[in-house]
Amino acid sequence: SSESNLIRATLFPGDGIGAEIAESVKQVFRTDDVPIEWEEHYVDLKGPMATPIGKGHRSLNLTLRKELNLYANVRPCYSLPGYKTKYDDVNLITICENTEGEYSGLEHQVVRGVVESLKIITRQASLRVAEYALYYAKTHGRERVSAIHKANIMQKTDGLFLKCCREVAEKYPEIVYEEVVIDNCCMMLVKNPALFDVLVMPNLYGDIISDLCAGLIGGLGLTPRYIQPIGLLKGGVALAEAVHGSAPDIARKNLANPTALLLSAITMLRHLELHDKVDRIQDSILKMIAEGKYRTADLGGKSMTTDFSKAICDHI
Ligand code: NAD
Repeated sequence: SSESNLIRATLFPGDGIGAEIAESVKQVFRTDDVPIEWEEHYVDLKGPMATPIGKGHRSLNLTLRKELNLYANVRPCYSLPGYKTKYDDVNLITICENTEGEYSGLEHQVVRGVVESLKIITRQASLRVAEYALYYAKTHGRERVSAIHKANIMQKTDGLFLKCCREVAEKYPEIVYEEVVIDNCCMMLVKNPALFDVLVMPNLYGDIISDLCAGLIGGLGLTPRYIQPIGLLKGGVALAEAVHGSAPDIARKNLANPTALLLSAITMLRHLELHDKVDRIQDSILKMIAEGKYRTADLGGKSMTTDFSKAICDHI
């Protein structure tokens, strides 16, 4: 709101661990005097939102993304200095189409014992996500875009997706463009993640590959994502969230790692061009993790969510 010079951001703490990790974000932002005014909604929506399986509910995530037309799901995945995993040099961006593919919600029973699910791929949606990926690569100093597919089997759907990517790539001769079959991509990623740079793919593949990438850097507790339509950089809707879900197994136990949501919140600050806040909060998180004194259970430590958050605030 202009009167108070505060920027209004909508916060959906969501289900499970959502409230605990949202509290960390609020605490860290308060500590650094980030000029954000939270408008909170408790409708079992964002943060992580649980989808009841087999109960005929449409995922609230899908509804939100579709209604807001958040078509490009961007998940940066990079090694956190000081947190040792098998790889030290992961620096990947996965970008997946977010409004169609296998997640169109079109499933039905043909006859008893036979169900059908429709995978929808359109030229329009494929072109815009390809354009997003190539433009992202160009404007973020990236060199390579890999289109991930299974067009050898899904010839029509993934075939069309690839055709669109190829078409767009021709407009970006400075970016190396390649096509990799998804199974081979998984194998290459675990053998040597440095083989990839920016990856673009249809919806379901993105969901799977981004969790695989999270595993390369130490797990879901560390991986942010950012969903932002291009062309709406000013004045449009952007959504930042953690890659992980509501983690019901550790909910309300003060065990959740808030890093993924914090790094997501930082992508929001970058979008709002609050760069000094971005640098200070990010440095504090990275320093704190590198020191290794406070680590949550998923990182092999014993710290509680609240101690972990407080340690970040102390660094700030
Ligand atoms: P999940 O991501 O919630 O949990 C998978 C595993 O990772 C669990 O063992 C959990 O304890 C651990 N984990 C996840 N986040 C963590 C964190 N911040 N700190 C420490 N450990 C963490 O996946 P799931 O169990 O398959 O799904 C649970 C629910 O979440 C489901 O209802 C699902 O539909 C929903 N979900 C929502 C989103 C979203 O809102 N974006 C994403 C994925 C799953």
